[in-house]
Amino acid sequence: MIAAPHGWGLIGASTIAREFMVDAIRASGGAPLWVMGHSEERVRAFSSACSIPNYTTHLGDLLADDAVTAVYIGSANGYHHAQVIAAAAAGKHVLCDKPLAVRSEDALEMVQTCERFGVALGINHHLRASDVHRQMRRLISQGAIGVVHSMIIHHGGLLRPELRTWRLNDPEMGGGIYLDLTVHDVDLARFLLCQEPVAVVGMGGAYGLSSNGLDDHTSYALRMTSGCLVQVHESFVTPNVVSQVIVNGSGGVLQANSSIGQRDSGELIKRSGTTAEKIRVERADLYAETLRQFNKLIMGHECQIATGWDGVRAIHIAEAVARAVRSGQVQMISEASEEAIT
Ligand code: NDP
Repeated sequence: MIAAPHGWGLIGASTIAREFMVDAIRASGGAPLWVMGHSEERVRAFSSACSIPNYTTHLGDLLADDAVTAVYIGSANGYHHAQVIAAAAAGKHVLCDKPLAVRSEDALEMVQTCERFGVALGINHHLRASDVHRQMRRLISQGAIGVVHSMIIHHGGLLRPELRTWRLNDPEMGGGIYLDLTVHDVDLARFLLCQEPVAVVGMGGAYGLSSNGLDDHTSYALRMTSGCLVQVHESFVTPNVVSQVIVNGSGGVLQANSSIGQRDSGELIKRSGTTAEKIRVERADLYAETLRQFNKLIMGHECQIATGWDGVRAIHIAEAVARAVRSGQVQMISEASEEAIT
């Protein structure tokens, strides 16, 4: 049996890597051995603050170490493509943060490259690790609220000042709300409903934080394969939002409050007839749980992690959302096949 990876390389001296992923790797039994970033000063400080023994500004140094069997790519979006391809070619398993790439064609190439080199590719769509969402998925699939007719996802907030960089102003680096929040929310809708979106309408724009043609605020509606309608609101400019995921069925409603975030939180209520039941959920570090699922993926076990293919789908759908906003027209979303993406 293949063992779960022990030696990890972190690619990208980023906020999420520092705040969450180093601890998550350790919590899942892994050892962070290297960190790579483009600024020597920052990567040295990162390695010292996180007690990671090696740092470098050259990806090749990290990839050349045989003790590194897996990498976590948490760099700015525009670097993911080249870094995933290089890591796969060096035989490392890859956990890449979302979005897998800036363009769906690039994401598809990344999936195919990982397959060619026989390495696992998982995507850090951590909302799949929340037990609130797992319980929702279970209840929906068991028919606990009947036929699902619609879903509402409310995912707003005010972007932290220290993150108001490439995300808000750099299209080449993959900035903008569609590659940031939309990819998460469409992945969540697919995960909860076990269906694909087939069409989208939307509106959005720059409401005060973003520039260079990037949007920071959007609302859109997807039609899923069953006809179910999914309405989504996402924003970098709306403080004090409490996230909600509401699923409306012919026999009841599931409502998750505060379940969208980086820390495991939230409650799940099931309403049916005159009763409202609070569903019991387990608590876990969402990123450590994602790491545990990634280890299962490597070992070929059944797991609940977004795969490379899910990463491709999320970008492909987010591109359709962005096109719908730009054109003001309904956009059809092609089927979940490689031919439909290329
Ligand atoms: P950051 O903006 O914090 O970091 C991205 C890159 O910017 C770093 O890798 C580093 O480049 C550079 N950088 C970091 N700090 C500074 C600084 N002070 N000054 C100048 N440059 C700096 O990105 P995030 O942590 O927010 O996001 C990283 C990735 O993780 C993205 O792909 C994002 O989409 C994803 N993400 C995923 C989340 C999830 O829940 N799954 C949540 C948040 C982000 P280098 O390493 O090249 O030196």
